[in-house]
Amino acid sequence: MKEIMVNLGGVVPLSTVDWPGRTAVVVFLRGCPLRCPHCHNIELQSGDSSAKFHSVATKIASLVKGERIVARASSQNSQQIDLDEATERASSKPFVDALVLSGGEPLMQAGPAYRLFRLARSLQLCTGLETSGCYPDRLRALLEDGLVDKVFLDIKAALQDHSYERATGFVGVAARVKESLRICMECGVPLEVRTTVFPEMPAASELIEIAGMLSELKKEFSKNRLERMVLQQGQPRKGDLGFEPVSRAVLQEVAGAIGDHVLVQIKARPNLAWKT
Ligand code: SF4
Repeated sequence: MKEIMVNLGGVVPLSTVDWPGRTAVVVFLRGCPLRCPHCHNIELQSGDSSAKFHSVATKIASLVKGERIVARASSQNSQQIDLDEATERASSKPFVDALVLSGGEPLMQAGPAYRLFRLARSLQLCTGLETSGCYPDRLRALLEDGLVDKVFLDIKAALQDHSYERATGFVGVAARVKESLRICMECGVPLEVRTTVFPEMPAASELIEIAGMLSELKKEFSKNRLERMVLQQGQPRKGDLGFEPVSRAVLQEVAGAIGDHVLVQIKARPNLAWKT
């Protein structure tokens, strides 16, 4: 039988930032069909670091349950690998209660994503998905199978073709993201919308437009569980020509202009601020 592979970008054994309020193992799947100019994980956009699904699943189960990993690398570095794994187990065992899939775009690998969520269920973990929303059909299938407890949806610009083409490098993405958003709102999965704000995009008017659309969808889908819209301060990538990030004051001004229809959270260095 053919071995099932997963193009793995990495595993963070314990994160409290990807899903606020939970402690999660975060699994990064490599590959993304988009090319956002400020991509936060550019090294995961492409490439191949495929691993056997069974090995990845064993590692995740070990991190969650604190068991010994059965499969060992038989290299001269094996002792180092054991120590690293032991540290990971010790640090994550008592706390982990969720698995988050991130990327890249995790739904680019539909089969492995499905299997990883099934694995999380078998480990009695809550499941979160960080997605750009560019695979609405795959998202719908996961939600219909009850495999995702929370969606973190990146909305990168106003959901218009020209804005989204600028933000992702591709035409036709806006309609897919809109469809993903409607699917989440319709089925009532807990939802956090995240928008990263850079100096040149999206403009304040686009942020207000996104919030207006969310407000309209809330009215249309009474089952919706939209929790908040997060405005994240975009930072320059290491090694890139720097830029001055959009200030917290500017983000607060935008939050004020959005009004009370959508709860807005601002994430900007050095602290968090909530609009009330
Ligand atoms: S969707 Fe995410 S991973 Fe893909 S290019 Fe954009 S920022 Fe990078």
